[in-house]
Amino acid sequence: MNAEVELKLGDINVQSINDSYFEKLKIGVDVLRLDKIHPVVSGNKWFKLKYYLQQAHVKNYSGIATFGGAFSNHIIATAYTCYKLKINCAGFIRGEEPKIYSPTLLDAKALNMQLHFVSREQYRNKQFIIESNPSMFFIPEGGYGMTGAKGAAEIVNLVPVFSKYQYIVCAVGTGTMIAGIANASHTHQKCIGISVMKNNFSLKDELSALVNDAARQRIFLRDEFHFGGYAKYTDELIDFINSVWNKHQFPLDFVYTAKAFYALYQLASKNYFEPSSKILFIHSGGLQGNRSLKNKIHFE
Ligand SMILES: *Cc1c(COP(=O)(O)O)cnc(C)c1O
Repeated sequence: MNAEVELKLGDINVQSINDSYFEKLKIGVDVLRLDKIHPVVSGNKWFKLKYYLQQAHVKNYSGIATFGGAFSNHIIATAYTCYKLKINCAGFIRGEEPKIYSPTLLDAKALNMQLHFVSREQYRNKQFIIESNPSMFFIPEGGYGMTGAKGAAEIVNLVPVFSKYQYIVCAVGTGTMIAGIANASHTHQKCIGISVMKNNFSLKDELSALVNDAARQRIFLRDEFHFGGYAKYTDELIDFINSVWNKHQFPLDFVYTAKAFYALYQLASKNYFEPSSKILFIHSGGLQGNRSLKNKIHFE
């Protein structure tokens, strides 16, 4: 297997949000546009995959396998990366095979990922699936783990002056991205993670396992911005996405970044951030997932 991945990284940049709302509150908000990294392998997923691919290479497996749902950003990122590297790959997809494939599954299939549909019950027993496929190198669902966090720590290197921010705000699924960022952060910084899941009681422990003691003190999780749960949304969230696009020409995905950016506004309105502080919002990508919303969102 060839692990020399050279994804041409697109024009990731840091965009300042000029909004009178933030000016009045005397805070500055910049956005790291990881969504621009690549149209398919958008956002944080590439960083989380990177060192897993290296491990698979070193250990000489016959292919890569991983887990995810029918709209998973991780599935599509894995499929694309393996396609580019000419690595066999398999995706174990949660739930029965649908009659009509989601756009994500169609793309993954077109990229030669072998799709295996597993019942929700079987899906919970991942260890059984892993043991049944000993020649495959399994990447945990969502890229969760120390290896994923090691890659995610490199996200901060893309920010020209990372140390000027007092707060880093990002969406949290498995917690791997924020763990990496927190490990790479400075003592004067706080990492605010917006959990996109409802009742994810194990998140704190799972996240804790990925960070050093100092970084743990700098992570602050918020769990009240899930809009009903993972991949759930309300009209208010859709309106928010469209209004952010109209005001700032920056596109949000409804599963992760919209909830996190909405949370940033809400927290700001409650004076959560110290006056005159600078906040870095991580746009972690995921825009492909908006295809499941059909015509509700308009980025044009
Ligand atoms: C996967 C994903 C996240 C969550 O990352 P974790 O490391 O699982 O916390 C956040 N934003 C987007 C767009 C994602 O695709």
